Formats: sequence, structure tokens, C-alpha cells
Amino acid sequence: MDCDVLIIGAGIQGAAIAGAAVRRGYRVRVIEQFSRPAEGTSSRSSKLIHGGLRYLETGQFRLVRQCLREQRTLLRERPELVSLTPFHIPVYTSTTRPAWKIAAGLWLYRLLGGHRFTRVPESRWHSLDGLNTQNLSTVFRYFDAQTDDRALTAAILADARTTGAAIEFSTCLEQVECLSNGCRVHCSTLSGEKEITAAVLVNATGPWVNRVLQRITPRPTPLDIELVQGTHIIVPGVLNQGIYYLEAPRDQRAVFVMPWQGQIMIGTTETPYSGDPADVQPLETEKRYLLEVYNHYFSNRLGLKDITGAFAGLRVLPAGTGRAFTRPRDTVLHCSDSAPRVISIYGGKLTSHAHTAEKAMKLVKRITDSGQ
Ligand SMILES: Cc1cc2nc3c(=O)[nH]c(=O)nc-3n(C[C@H](O)[C@H](O)[C@H](O)COP(=O)(O)OP(=O)(O)OC[C@H]3O[C@@H](n4cnc5c(N)ncnc54)[C@H](O)[C@@H]3O)c2cc1C
Repeated sequence: MDCDVLIIGAGIQGAAIAGAAVRRGYRVRVIEQFSRPAEGTSSRSSKLIHGGLRYLETGQFRLVRQCLREQRTLLRERPELVSLTPFHIPVYTSTTRPAWKIAAGLWLYRLLGGHRFTRVPESRWHSLDGLNTQNLSTVFRYFDAQTDDRALTAAILADARTTGAAIEFSTCLEQVECLSNGCRVHCSTLSGEKEITAAVLVNATGPWVNRVLQRITPRPTPLDIELVQGTHIIVPGVLNQGIYYLEAPRDQRAVFVMPWQGQIMIGTTETPYSGDPADVQPLETEKRYLLEVYNHYFSNRLGLKDITGAFAGLRVLPAGTGRAFTRPRDTVLHCSDSAPRVISIYGGKLTSHAHTAEKAMKLVKRITDSGQ
């Protein structure tokens, strides 16, 4: 075999799994179809390292606790890339979630490992970056962390490379044959075709996960998923006080208004998507929805012409009939009987990449130990 573990995809999950695998002494290779890391979802997130306060509403306590644990580790180990930022939750007379409910959520968040929260005194409301104060009854302030998702992914991948992983960009998985002792992977590269054999294949291709499974013989059973697009827009402006966590007036979803590289980033949306993941683009309806949220809460009104940038990413969510907003956000690691040496990573958070990598290592060990 050319390597023990071949990872497909240089997003945050592939990068973290590569690092975890080299640390355990495996011979590791990573292939990525694009010419640099994080060209997929891992540069199109909300760039938060957080427990996900809103997941408490859907009872995802284990996920919140685990993400808050990961947040503490990242704050300690990557202080140049992950920093604590104040978040503000304004509550108006029209807000559907009452102040007591938000306070209870923040208490629970704190109990699960989050940071303490306070109420911003009314005398300080004028300093909140032009936030509308009409009918405002309370502003909660707590802390979560912000990162640069692309830079974080690149740093994790660089560490994996330094410790021995081989990383190959512009290399696309085309076909895979499952063998009794591994996988034979046919790839296309800028200089032609090539073949790599590996004892274990890790399919860390984010929204491409089921497209990659279709290229494997015998065909593994895929999980039933839906891709849900999330768009962010960038507008001019400065936020001095941190991030605003707002309830969208139209559908009561949570929307963030955040400082980002000297401007303001607003996101996100939830739009079902069924095309090629490489083609996902922000829609005009999504841009209008995000501007509507901003204009509802801030005094300086913005229009489509003010948007200086926009990007869209794809969530991998379990298929279901409910709103995407309330679906579970856990990461699922899947092996199929017909391709027992292929591990596929479904969904998950930027924040929990290290935890996912540890879970992947248990599966890699089980596969290599069993000699399946
Ligand atoms: C709108 C949005 C906001 C989010 N906000 C947050 C947040 O604030 N905090 C948080 O913790 N999480 C957030 N997430 C979740 C997080 O961004 C994702 O879970 C994470 O980035 C997924 O990483 P990944 O490595 O699995 O996938 P990706 O980053 O998509 O990486 C997959 C890689 O596989 C490569 N690939 C695909 N097919 C092939 C092939 N055939 N051959 C070679 N390479 C291939 C792709 O090019 C890509 O680089 C958000 C997600 C979305 C969509």
C-alpha cells in the first residue's frame, strides 16, 4: 500500500484527521481537488468557534458541551487565530423569545462550559454601534469566539504536513476500487492520471460526500442527506462592540451581524440546494433577506448596491421534513458493509473538528486492527 490513510478533501475535517493520523504514526496522504485548502465549506462559514447557543432550543446539549470544550482548547492552543468576542442579544417588545427564556438559555450555556453573561445597562445602549433602541427592553452580553476559518484550516493542515502528512492539491478522486486489504484510488491531476493505494480511505469531502461514494466500487450505501445553502454578505461599516445576535423579523431565525476584516458580515440563510456543490452562489433573495435583518436593527439603511462581497456555503444535514434550522448538527461517521475500509464524514461544525478527528481515529484503528 502507498499509505495507511488516504484522506480526500483539505477542508477543516480532512486537515484535522490528517494531523491526528500522523500523530498516531500512520503514513498519511491528503488529496484535494482545488489548488489550496478550505476552498469548500471551510472558508464559507460564519467563522465562529462556539457552542451554538441556539442549539439549546432543540435540546442538543451534548453537542453544545462538546463544542464549548473544543472552544476552550482552541483559545488556548491557537490564540493567534481564535479569540473571544463579545456577543450582544437585544430583546425588544416584539422579540418572540422573551428575556427570561434567553437568560435561562445563557445560564444553561454557562453551566455547559460557556462564559458568563451580563446585561448591558441602559445608559450604555447608545454605544452599541447604532443599534435601534426604540422598544428595546434588554440587551444581553456574553462571550463566544471568532476565527478566520480559511486560515485555521490552513494552519491545521500545515501542522499535519510538518509532522509528516503528504498533501497533494489539484488532485481529484475519480474512481475507487475496494480491495480485500485496502482501496485503489484513481485520481486526475494537472499532469495526468495517477493511482494511490491505501489501507483506509477517509471521505472528508463535506457537501461532495455522497458524490464521492458514487465513484466507489462496490457502491457503499450513502446516508440520506440534504444540502442547505447558507449565504453571508459583507457591507461597509464598523462594529466596535463585537457581534450582534439578532432574531430575523420575517421568520425568527437567528442571524449574526459581525465585524469582519474592517467591514460588517451578515449571515446566514437556509436555502435547500440540489446542484453541484462547486456551483453554489449567493442568491438575490438571500441578500435581500439579510439586508432586511440589518435594516430592521441598525439606523444606517443599506441596499443591494452597498454589498461589497457575498459568499455561500453548504451544510450537510440529515434529510427530514422539519425546518433546516431545527435539524441536528452532529457529525456522523459512516462505514458501509460493502466498503468497510471507507469512512465518510457527514456534517458537523468547524468548532468540533478535533473531536471528529479523534472519532475517525477510533474507526481507522478498528479497521486496521481487524484486517477486514
Ligand atoms: C453557512 C455555514 C455557516 C457555518 N458556520 C459555522 C460556524 O460559525 N462555526 C462552526 O463551527 N461551523 C460552522 N459551519 C459548519 C462548518 O463550516 C463545516 O462543518 C465545515 O467547514 C465542513 O468542513 P469539511 O472539511 O467537512 O468540508 P469542506 O470544507 O467542504 O471540505 C471538503 C473538501 O473536499 C474537497 N473535495 C470534494 N470532492 C473531492 C474529490 N473528488 N477529490 C478531491 N477533493 C475533493 C473539496 O474541494 C473541499 O475542499 C457552517 C457551515 C455553513 C454552511
